Amino acid sequence: MCGIIGIVSRSRQVASDMYYGLYGLQHRGKESAGMVTSECGEKCCFQGEMGEIPIVFSKKILERLSGNVGIAQNRYSTTSESSFENIQPIQGYWGGEEFWIAHNGNLINTEDLREYCLNKGRQPSADSDTAAIASLISLTSAFSFEQAVKKTIQKLRGAFSLVILYKDRIIVVRDSLGIRPLCLGKRKDGYIVASETCALHHMGATLIREIDPGEISVINRAGIKKYYHPSVTARKFCIFELIYFSRPDSIVLGRRVGDVQENMGRLLAQEHPAEADIVIPIPDSGNYGGWGFIEVSKIPNGQKAILRTHLISRTFIEAVQELRDQGVDLKFVILKEKVMGKRVVLIDDSVVRGTTQKRLVKWLRAAGAKEIHARIFSPPYMYPCYYGIDTYRVKDELIAKRNKGDIEKIRQELGLDSLEYLSLDLAIKAIIETPCVRKPCISLKPDNFCAACFNSRYPVKPSKIN
Ligand code: 5GP
Ligand code: SF4
Ligand code: MG
Repeated sequence: MCGIIGIVSRSRQVASDMYYGLYGLQHRGKESAGMVTSECGEKCCFQGEMGEIPIVFSKKILERLSGNVGIAQNRYSTTSESSFENIQPIQGYWGGEEFWIAHNGNLINTEDLREYCLNKGRQPSADSDTAAIASLISLTSAFSFEQAVKKTIQKLRGAFSLVILYKDRIIVVRDSLGIRPLCLGKRKDGYIVASETCALHHMGATLIREIDPGEISVINRAGIKKYYHPSVTARKFCIFELIYFSRPDSIVLGRRVGDVQENMGRLLAQEHPAEADIVIPIPDSGNYGGWGFIEVSKIPNGQKAILRTHLISRTFIEAVQELRDQGVDLKFVILKEKVMGKRVVLIDDSVVRGTTQKRLVKWLRAAGAKEIHARIFSPPYMYPCYYGIDTYRVKDELIAKRNKGDIEKIRQELGLDSLEYLSLDLAIKAIIETPCVRKPCISLKPDNFCAACFNSRYPVKPSKIN
């Protein structure tokens, strides 16, 4: 999962805009960030570094990044390690001219693509799938750069939303299933593309539309032109974007993500009611679903019983379980007097390894909670994701997989009094039935989603499924 941005302005320097946009996408990746700018196709300026936005970009650096065209990325490593050479955007050359590329998603045929490049005598600049795409473009002969991009894309398998900076323009690409999000916004001085509408908001742009699955468009000072636009035959949008990844204020498929999660919480309360004294939505990922659950169940809101400190954020990616436990313990504090002697329902978006639930159960018991029930607004997370989410790396530790989907066994392992998950059918119904905040509404069918981490129906088959 990464965040990407592309911007073309007729009148402004774009570096500081992209800085705010990246801030808005920080939840999609915190390992590294980078941006590249260009002044009307003149030489490009690049800055990239490991770490979060304020560490990577100082005021002085932003002033050095001159130009009115630019692309940027926040990275959350998937295919390759988190390292300096994998920072994006990544540079390539086509026809003697430089181009830069930023990617959200993950390819499943990176090894084959690397081999193809090596056989043609070109070593990709890094081991990431994105570096392989850059090398492929460089190796592709065509009468125009856009044509080279289009030819390259036919070779890619997996999830890819791309922004590519070339001379005075940006080429925007989305894979034909539209697995990862990408949207187009407008400002008085030009166009902006971003992974999520929350970034458009921070850049002062308004949403025009989503980039269609399979679309290739070119943006320059004159405007945006769809270069290639196949009719959308299949849409397989990542359902987990709506459950967890995308920011609640973002608009995805015409719907506000927080509204979708609230609806999931409502349906969860109908499908799996609980008898309890308070409902605690686990902040922040459980908030909206929790509010929906509270509305339907009419159980009092126990939000005040848990405090989340925002100084700790990345408990999930720690390599050692002890550090992940410690991270969760630092992240959440239970206020004893608010739970003592009470029957508690915990609401969260998902259970992956089970770290969050286990630690909270421990602290709730220590604080004197009488019963602890968990209600999760997604199905058991059983299978790794190959399209850009780091559960790819967690595959052997998925608690639902380890317990073969047996909810009673998972409940026991987590130490809960009861545990229930929202069924996939209802999760999808919750999305489809959420009213659109934008017209015309994108009408959706149940098979418009990738839900492979729940049902193992991978829309692009990986060669080996773990
Ligand atoms: P667990 O603690 O069970 O291992 O993970 C579940 C928690 O991590 C949930 O609160 C959820 O919000 C969050 N989560 C779910 N999927 C991901 C992911 O792919 N990456 C990160 N960083 N967190 C996740
Ligand atoms: Fe999203 Fe899961 Fe599909 Fe990955 S496998 S793209 S996380 S729904
Ligand atoms: Mg969470």
